Amino acid sequence: MEKFKFKKKYGQNFITDENLINKIVNSAEINTESLVIEIGPGMGALTTKILDKCKQGIIYEIDTELKEYLEHKLNNYDNYELLFEDFLTTNVKEVLKKYKYKELLIVANLPYYITTPIIKKIIEEEILADKIVIMIQKEVADRFSAKVNTKDYSSLTVFLNYYYDIKKLFNVSKNMFYPKPEVDSSVILMSKKKEKENIEDINIFNKLVKDSFKYKRKNLRNNLKQYDLEKIDLILQKYNLSLNSRAENIPLNVFVEIANNI
Ligand code: SAM
Repeated sequence: MEKFKFKKKYGQNFITDENLINKIVNSAEINTESLVIEIGPGMGALTTKILDKCKQGIIYEIDTELKEYLEHKLNNYDNYELLFEDFLTTNVKEVLKKYKYKELLIVANLPYYITTPIIKKIIEEEILADKIVIMIQKEVADRFSAKVNTKDYSSLTVFLNYYYDIKKLFNVSKNMFYPKPEVDSSVILMSKKKEKENIEDINIFNKLVKDSFKYKRKNLRNNLKQYDLEKIDLILQKYNLSLNSRAENIPLNVFVEIANNI
């Protein structure tokens, strides 16, 4: 497609390296029972390799200028649904209802400008794929896979950790893309937890975590003024923590215990 103008506003940095494409697709361990969602196929670098392995693909692309090219490239496949829609606003769950599947995977080289909104959508709308293999900006990968007691540990890390085990698989140099982006990337694997923490009321948990991280520099005593601090303090003490701790010091299980007892 000679005349194609890459659109920065859509985060279009396409993979050019065959080995990288194989490495990403192989990391997802797609099999003939898998239903795979791809977000942003671009010129289909990952798409054909995904469709070679999976039962069915659901592919979301925002840029209608890629329609002719993609339809031509996928001409030999019949196991996909190609939707020219904005992933952030489309109703994914409605589409999923049409399919019977043993496992749901999400595989994508994500547009970097909306990585966090995409992940938030997946969690909030409970599009809870069994495995998610995504290439994202390296700094964002560090934030998603951050451990407690580090500066990258955030409310999103806690929410993600409730649903998923998150592992950084490998870093990718910016030279592997055209056009070349300004930042390096990482591929991460998110595997749905087999046994989740037992949260009694997800809304209370969500609010507690958000409130705890409201002002990152403030401690829990200040961020959680409107709560029963005595009760919270008793739980914190069991874990050698206190109201002087900051949200970044609180592991998922402690947030859960507090949420279940307030
Ligand atoms: N998968 C291709 C590759 O790896 O070469 C392209 C990846 S490129 C980083 C991101 C792709 O996401 C682009 O094709 C872009 O048009 C598409 N995209 C951007 N915003 C989107 C959105 N809101 N919904 C669906 N696709 C989007």
